[in-house]
Amino acid sequence: MAIIGIDLGTTNSLAAVWRNHRVELIPNAAGEYLTPSVVSVEDDGSILVGQAAKERLVSHPERSAAGFKRDMGTGRRFHLGEHVFSPEELSSFILRSLREDAERYLGEAVTEAVVSVPAYFAEGQRAATKRAATLAGLRVERLLNEPSAAAVAGERVRDDEQKLVLVFDFGGGTLDVSLVELFENVVSVTAVSGDVHLGGRDFDTAIARAFCQECGLDWTRLSPRQRGNLLHQAETCKVALSSREPVLMSVMDGEISASLILTSEWLLRKCGTLFRRMTAPVRKVFLDAGTPPSELDDLIMVGGSSRMPTVRSYIARFLKREPLKNYPPDTAIARGAGICAGMKAYDKELRDLILTDICPFTLGVDVINQSEPGRLLMSPIIERNSVLPTSRMGVYSTTRDNQDKVEIRIYQGENRYCADNTYLGKMELSVPPAPAGEQSVRIRFTYDVNGLFEAEAVNDVGERTRLLLRDGDMTEEEVRSRLRELEKLKLHPREQAANREVTARGERLYSVTVGQTRYQVGQILDWFQAQMTTQDPLRIANARRKATHFFDQVERYLQDADFPEGEGYGFDPEEEP
Ligand code: AMP
Repeated sequence: MAIIGIDLGTTNSLAAVWRNHRVELIPNAAGEYLTPSVVSVEDDGSILVGQAAKERLVSHPERSAAGFKRDMGTGRRFHLGEHVFSPEELSSFILRSLREDAERYLGEAVTEAVVSVPAYFAEGQRAATKRAATLAGLRVERLLNEPSAAAVAGERVRDDEQKLVLVFDFGGGTLDVSLVELFENVVSVTAVSGDVHLGGRDFDTAIARAFCQECGLDWTRLSPRQRGNLLHQAETCKVALSSREPVLMSVMDGEISASLILTSEWLLRKCGTLFRRMTAPVRKVFLDAGTPPSELDDLIMVGGSSRMPTVRSYIARFLKREPLKNYPPDTAIARGAGICAGMKAYDKELRDLILTDICPFTLGVDVINQSEPGRLLMSPIIERNSVLPTSRMGVYSTTRDNQDKVEIRIYQGENRYCADNTYLGKMELSVPPAPAGEQSVRIRFTYDVNGLFEAEAVNDVGERTRLLLRDGDMTEEEVRSRLRELEKLKLHPREQAANREVTARGERLYSVTVGQTRYQVGQILDWFQAQMTTQDPLRIANARRKATHFFDQVERYLQDADFPEGEGYGFDPEEEP
């Protein structure tokens, strides 16, 4: 049975597998490698994943969700039509869809995966990711830090050569910065940092808001659908700016009709804060590693947002290094996860490759604060950037006379006070009654290469207690019962994915156009629906091509105010395909 590697991204996800001496990317039902990490619930209750769901973000925002990776491990709930989902449940639909694509591609069942996560993901977010995989019928073989995956995907260094590489991974929702050392066949991450609230989507929002400001529109008064449309246009223009400039951003949506010329210089001016925020984690990794930036050999820039020339030149100037060329920004992490899946499957070609990771955050327990008794202090046991696997011990004494038990609360984070860090869980252990300070408890934290964390406490008479943080806050029975419920929700049939994408796109265009254009979009949708009822594959494929061509033209019209409205689309719905 194959093990696949999965890059579960904020914006896009993809899977890869090690086969025939190389890593292969796995195409989805539409033949694309990138599957947008978007979920939408159809009127009949079936679940749409990917590009079609992304189209519905604009036309059916109340039934669709994106960006939920940012909320992994939080209590946030998403209301999609009549359903309520947690972020990990939404992620499980993406994983299920990737698993089905892989099974189709490989012709065998897939039940195990290496899943990449941002290095900066906290314990709760890692547990939520594992839970998402469980809900998708996948056992996680390893949670792999995304920068390690990116580094593994690259060239291996020659014998006796040593390289210090900075991986700048800038995606749709998060920024991860890591220093990675390559030496012979060993890849080791030496320091990581990041910003979990900085990504391409922040640029989309900043562009949309600046657009409103300059065009005299009030962002706060726009409807969710209008905002969705504006964000869609902002993203389209941002991506266009990566290959040409200037770009005309124009929005015609109901009573809104405005346009503005965008340039790189405008982007730098309007998103100055976002650019400055990018450098903070870069500084931090050098500080943490105790290495000056001048020691850096290579700069690897991955993640969709690293395609922005403004981002590349900003970071290149900051580090005085040009990023490595020919490094696929969108697929490097999935390739690395695929290679790691090959290592897990003990492929003999990969047996020599060693991948070491680090613990990206500090783990500790609370202790009494003598000077401010109300504010418990954090006592670190495993420090940030410790190489995995690691096992460290701290010794703590009782604080009260005749104390009969100790309560050990475990936290994660870099702050001095526990209240400012993330609470992970607690253990209780009894201690023999004695004067304060006479009894001690030894607390051992173990963090293995798969990111599994275990805490153990032992008292002076050898009694012990353990806490294993595995699958977060759900019991096995709860996971099983939720799995049964989710399995009842069917993913939209894979065979119809391409057709559904066309209709979803048409529905989005219908919702953002008016007048003659809207009328024609509606006609095409009706016509396409009629072609599908013929069940003639050739006829449907032709119809799909024609409708796509028509929608491309409408899209062009929407981006270019000079294009004549409703004319020149060169499409006659009556015409036989
Ligand atoms: P990822 O999470 O790595 O898939 O990155 C997705 C983000 O990259 C989204 O915010 C996209 O808008 C952005 N993106 C993808 N391609 C480009 C491009 N050519 N130029 C600018 N941003 C891009």
